[in-house]
Amino acid sequence: MDAHFDVAIIGAGHGGAQVAIQLRQLGFAGTIGLIGAEPEPPYERPPLSKDYLAGEKAFERMLIRPESFWAERDVSLVPGTRIAMVDAEAKTVTSEGGRSFGYGALVWAAGGTPRRLACAGGDLAGVHVLRCRAEVDLIRAELEDARHVSVIGGGYIGLEAAAVLTKLGKKVSVVEALDRVLARVAAPEISQFYEAEHRAHGVELLLGRSVDRIEGESCRARRVVLNDVGEIETDLVIAGIGIDPAAGPLLAAGAEGGNGIHVDAHCRTSLPDIYAIGDCAAQESRFAGGARVRLESVQNAHDSASTAARAIAGLAEPHDAVPWFWSNQYDLRLQTVGLSLGHDRTVLRGRPEDRSFSLVYLREGRVIALDCVNAVRDYAQGRRLVQEGYSPDPAKLADPAVPLKELS
Ligand code: FAD
Repeated sequence: MDAHFDVAIIGAGHGGAQVAIQLRQLGFAGTIGLIGAEPEPPYERPPLSKDYLAGEKAFERMLIRPESFWAERDVSLVPGTRIAMVDAEAKTVTSEGGRSFGYGALVWAAGGTPRRLACAGGDLAGVHVLRCRAEVDLIRAELEDARHVSVIGGGYIGLEAAAVLTKLGKKVSVVEALDRVLARVAAPEISQFYEAEHRAHGVELLLGRSVDRIEGESCRARRVVLNDVGEIETDLVIAGIGIDPAAGPLLAAGAEGGNGIHVDAHCRTSLPDIYAIGDCAAQESRFAGGARVRLESVQNAHDSASTAARAIAGLAEPHDAVPWFWSNQYDLRLQTVGLSLGHDRTVLRGRPEDRSFSLVYLREGRVIALDCVNAVRDYAQGRRLVQEGYSPDPAKLADPAVPLKELS
């Protein structure tokens, strides 16, 4: 055995780092190991598709804590170590390289694995995903000689990348299989607004189209061939087509789950002394009408990390944080609070043509979510409406002159 930790955290990303930070803040005095597959100390992922991709942010400014912090707090960083096996009876984990670690409590915080294009040519040089620093460094190096970039997937990450690449002077085509961008996360009003913005910035949006294959020359991607008629000459391809939860070793060890590891309100899995948090965990949420959901956001990683840390430290408090998220594209800051899943009505506040407005999502009259575009006040004041499930008068909701705080 290489080491034994009172708490072993698998995955040194947003959630994993936060568990270690919280444990120490709560006065936990045991040994903590933060075991991660990537070589870097924990860093923030959102800039990868924003200012880091744009070359406007140094990597050091993305570190979640300065490198010295971890040793000062007596947290053992174990980088470059991918855990492949969990033995829940022996309370050990084993890495791909054969290193093994014992644990008292285990926190699985392994995030997600970006889906790669399954079509022919999906493995050619010049075809990338966008999830970790190493991949973005590769993209940035290849961008120097690239004129035309194809982005596959019109979700947040694909659209953020498209905005940055356009700003860098690249010709950008976005291919989205559904008939609108952001279709899985937002209402048509939001999709239409962002489609118009991207088109106004010169992005070619190919909606309702999917990729048949990628053709290469000298083993390098050169053409994206679409399923129906059409192909795009390209120098670089970025696939932003979602993630699969990185849950394999824990599910193989017998943890309950499917699309994410099932956890209870304290982030406990079905296995003894094993917790799961962040992108790889699925939990019932009152903000989803009690359904089990797997959320992919920094907020969820942080808040579920706090819940697990409190449970480990003997200060258990159920997880009940209102979900929130943000996305930056061009000079637009979208802030989302709540989950719009299952809404039966939307109310528009303000005019999209002013580039500052909010869309309020309701279910049976109750506010369940808001998408706020350059509307920080609505975002801040709308949170309470979601948190408490208020049912305001829709006419007042629609009137931007009525502050949302007056409706709660
Ligand atoms: P991660 O932060 O992904 O950390 C998981 C870590 O575990 C990784 O370092 C991984 O390498 C490691 N790992 C995986 N498997 C193993 C294993 N078997 N053994 C050891 N280590 C392992 N969210 C927002 O709220 N706002 C945004 O604007 C936003 N923008 C984003 C932009 C990009 C490009 C990306 C990729 C994500 C963005 N997100 C954003 C999502 C957010 O970053 C994630 O929800 C968050 O990082 C989840 O935290 P996590 O700890 O669950 O996983």
